[in-house]
Amino acid sequence: LWDEINSLLKNDFTAVSYRTWFSNVKPLKLDHDQLTLQLPSVLHVEYWQKNISSKVIEYAFQLTGKDITPVLMTENQVKDEQQAQAEPLLYPTESDESDQLDPNYTFDKFVVGKQNMFAQAAALSVAEDPGVTYNPLLIYGGVGLGKTHLMQAIGNYMLEQDPSKNVVFITSEKFTNEFVSAVKDSSHGGTEMERFKEKYRNVDLLLVDDIQFFSSKDKTQEEFFHTFNELRNDKKQIVMTSDRLPNEISKLQDRLVSRFNWGLSVSIEEPDVATRTKILQSKAKYSKISITEEALEYLAKQVDSNVRELESALSQVKAFSDFNGGPSRINIPMVKSAISNHDFASKVDHNVDIEDILEGVSAYYNVSIDDIKGKKRYKEIVAPRQVAMYLSRELTKTSLPKIGEAFGGKDHTTVIHAYDKIKRALDNNDPQIKDEVADLKMELLR
Ligand code: ADP
Ligand code: MG
Repeated sequence: LWDEINSLLKNDFTAVSYRTWFSNVKPLKLDHDQLTLQLPSVLHVEYWQKNISSKVIEYAFQLTGKDITPVLMTENQVKDEQQAQAEPLLYPTESDESDQLDPNYTFDKFVVGKQNMFAQAAALSVAEDPGVTYNPLLIYGGVGLGKTHLMQAIGNYMLEQDPSKNVVFITSEKFTNEFVSAVKDSSHGGTEMERFKEKYRNVDLLLVDDIQFFSSKDKTQEEFFHTFNELRNDKKQIVMTSDRLPNEISKLQDRLVSRFNWGLSVSIEEPDVATRTKILQSKAKYSKISITEEALEYLAKQVDSNVRELESALSQVKAFSDFNGGPSRINIPMVKSAISNHDFASKVDHNVDIEDILEGVSAYYNVSIDDIKGKKRYKEIVAPRQVAMYLSRELTKTSLPKIGEAFGGKDHTTVIHAYDKIKRALDNNDPQIKDEVADLKMELLR
């Protein structure tokens, strides 16, 4: 049914607009009168609600004679849903996630760059004036980008100023567990619930990590709602982190979403090379690793995922160098051989393989897979071939020779050449290549 509706919709939009709003739409299920569709982002959901949903209903009616309504979900919401179904309310309690502050997570050790500048500034002003400026403060962003570090820096700062302050750090999972077990206990006549309330309503600073896990935990959300209100009324500071914005967390009660929006939400983005270099410099200094400036820059260029990977790459380079009796100051050749041994650059598992890339590129440029793999040298074929090779190197963990093999048995130097060519075009901001690669990545990584 979706395919039929889709082909009718196609006529209502220009090619560009169709590609923007439809290319990453996935039909998930048709249940009685509901057609569930997965859209790539909240932006898409909003646009669909305004401009497309009514057409879907219309066409579905034309095709089936029935009233079918679309249910729109973002990928994150679909994931939450699946998790909620797969998991019972209670998490395993023996989670060894500590609820102590890590004394290393301080403002001093937090390197500020373009991507986290705003978040850092907000965190610092909250630390200096808790309960006054931004309450609550929500720090959101991808994994390993420093959310927990920054949040705990606020706690460490407060304790440094006044050790008698009551700072509580907790993950949303642990909060949930404690609450659920308190509920159980009180149904048996125990007093755990009182202790639970004591603990959370008598804090000066409450740090709640990864609130996306409150998704679907209705009773816990209710309890958190009350905790939140009491603390905020008492002008006690609340800081939260999340991997996304509250309105993107599915099954988070509206009243919580709106409370969270009373304060300030700041994002942390992936660090660019300049920030990554600064972070490595700082880590090397604190861990007393002797390494040349150039070697650090080289490493910062190679490891482009997140800060956690960056840290572990540095310590592995150090270990490799120690083990192999490296020079007294680690240099570029040392880093290179450590890297070739470990393959850090491909730390992010994109879950894409070369077949996906070939298919995607073939459809995108309207060139056959055989031609991409073949030897023809027409411009119309060479460019897509090079883009496909570039993406294969960028998005998969395949070695250069293996990529060559997958492209009809080409030499690995051909792959390097293609990769460099596209890379240079991107570095030089070639608008066409940039758009095409971005489109394809969107398509492939959805
Ligand atoms: P998140 O909570 O966002 O997943 P973390 O706060 O756990 O990320 O950070 C991962 C690691 O990277 C930690 O060891 C942290 O100290 C380090 N880190 C992250 N951002 C920075 C930064 N800007 N400066 C220094 N270290 C950082
Ligand atoms: Mg974290």
